[in-house]
Amino acid sequence: MPPSQSYAVTIVGGGLGGLTTALALRQRGLRTIVLEQAPELGEVGAGIQTAPNASRILLGLGLRRQLEAIHTEPQDQVRRRWHDGAIIAQLPLGERVKRKYNAPYWHYHRADLHRVLLDACLDGEGVGPVSEVHTSAKVTEIDRTDPTRPVAVSEDGRRFDADVLIGADGVRSAVRDLMGLPDTLEFSGEMAYRALIPGDKIAADPATRFLLDRLHSTIWYGPDRHLVHYCIRGGEYLNVVAIVPNTLDVEQTWTGPATADELVEAYSGWDDRVAAMLSKAEGDASKWAMFRRRRDPVWVDGHVALLGDACHAMLPYQAQGASQAMEDAAVLAEELGGVTRDGIAGALTRYVGRRAKHAGMVQDASLRNKDFYHLPDGPEQEERDRVLREFNGESDVSYDWLWNGTPLNDPDLESFHYPFGR
Ligand SMILES: Cc1cc2nc3c(=O)[nH]c(=O)nc-3n(C[C@H](O)[C@H](O)[C@H](O)COP(=O)(O)OP(=O)(O)OC[C@H]3O[C@@H](n4cnc5c(N)ncnc54)[C@H](O)[C@@H]3O)c2cc1C
Repeated sequence: MPPSQSYAVTIVGGGLGGLTTALALRQRGLRTIVLEQAPELGEVGAGIQTAPNASRILLGLGLRRQLEAIHTEPQDQVRRRWHDGAIIAQLPLGERVKRKYNAPYWHYHRADLHRVLLDACLDGEGVGPVSEVHTSAKVTEIDRTDPTRPVAVSEDGRRFDADVLIGADGVRSAVRDLMGLPDTLEFSGEMAYRALIPGDKIAADPATRFLLDRLHSTIWYGPDRHLVHYCIRGGEYLNVVAIVPNTLDVEQTWTGPATADELVEAYSGWDDRVAAMLSKAEGDASKWAMFRRRRDPVWVDGHVALLGDACHAMLPYQAQGASQAMEDAAVLAEELGGVTRDGIAGALTRYVGRRAKHAGMVQDASLRNKDFYHLPDGPEQEERDRVLREFNGESDVSYDWLWNGTPLNDPDLESFHYPFGR
C-alpha cells in the first residue's frame, strides 16, 4: 500500500548502496536527497559481481534493460589449486542459476553499474519523485534538535533537513561516528591488489587465452593468499582481485598504486599461467588494505539509520558487500514505503530487525573464508577441497541461503521471473 503522506529521506553517500536506496525509496513515492562528498559521483575502476540475491533486487527495480546492456554472464565458477591449477571444483552458473534462483549471477564494470543506478535515480520519466543529488557535500554534523527532522550539515555549512537520515557513507562512516556508536572497525592484516587487465592482452598470449574462451570466474586457493578473476564488458577486461598478507603502511595510507612486477612476485611459485596473467597488469593495478566491521546490530537511533558498509563492512571473500547493501535498500524501502511520518521510527526498527542478523551472518562467513581460503597444504586443505567439491557453498554458508537473500514482503516482482528476455 502506498503511504497516504509522502516524506523526505536524506541519504549520505552516493555509492552503490546509497544509490540503490535512493532508487528503491523513490519508487515508493518518497522524496530522496543524496549527499556525496566527492566532487563527482563514480566508482573505482574495478569489476563487481552480483549474485542472484542482489541481481533480483536490481531487476525488481525495473533495471533489466539497462543491466542487460552492461552485464557479463559467467557460465561457471571454477576453483583451482595454486601450484598446478588443478580444478578443485566447478559450479555451473549461467542458466542453472537463473532457473534455480529466479535471478542471474552477473559481472559488471563498477562504473557501468553505478551509472545505471544514477541515471535511474535522475530519470524524469521514472516512477516516483526524481532524486536530488548533491556532490561536494561532505557531511560533518547531524543536527537532531528536532529528533523527527534530522538535519545533515555539510562541511561548507549547507543544511539538508528531512524526515529520515540514512548513513550509506561506507566503511569509515561519519554518520556512524556522529550517532555515537562504538568503533567496530578492524584491520584484517591483508590487502587486495586490484587490476583491470585489457582483454586483448589476455587474448594475445596462448598461455592466457583460455580465460576468454568461456566466460567464467575463477578462485585460486593457496597458502596465505588467494586470487580471483573474471571478465567484464564481455571480455574487454579481465578483473583481478589478489588477496595477500598486507605490506601497506595502514597508519599512513589505505591504498596505493601497484606494479605488475609486485603482483607477479606475490604469486611466485604458483602455476605459470598466474604469472602470465598478472604480468599483463602494468599500469592497471592498485592495492588496498582490507578492513571490516565487527558484527553489530545497532544500526538505528530514532530517525537516523545506517546501511551498507557503514554498518556491516565485510571482507570481500563472499563477494557480497554491495549485494548486502542492495538487500538493505530493498527491505528499507518496503518498511519506509509502507508508513506515514508517524510510523518512521517503527519502520526503521523493523528494517534493522529484518536485516542485521542476516548481514551479520554474511559478515561472519566472509571472515571465516579468510582462514578457509588460505590453508597451507595438508589434511585441513584436503578436507576443505572435499567440502568445496561436495557442498553448494563455502565454509558453512550455503549458496541456497545466501542467494535466496532476505525474504521480501513482495516476492511477486514479475520482472525478474525466469525465463528472461520475454
Ligand atoms: C576487492 C573488493 C572486491 C569486492 N567485490 C565485491 C563483489 O563482487 N560484490 C559485492 O557485492 N561486493 C563486493 N565488494 C564490496 C563492495 O565494494 C562494498 O561493500 C560496497 O561498495 C559498499 O557500498 P556502500 O555504498 O555501502 O559504500 P561505499 O561504496 O564506500 O560508498 C560510500 C559513499 O559515501 C561517500 N561518503 C563517505 N563519507 C561521506 C560523508 N561524510 N559525506 C558524504 N558522503 C560521504 C563516499 O565518497 C562514497 O561515495 C568488494 C570489495 C572489495 C574491497
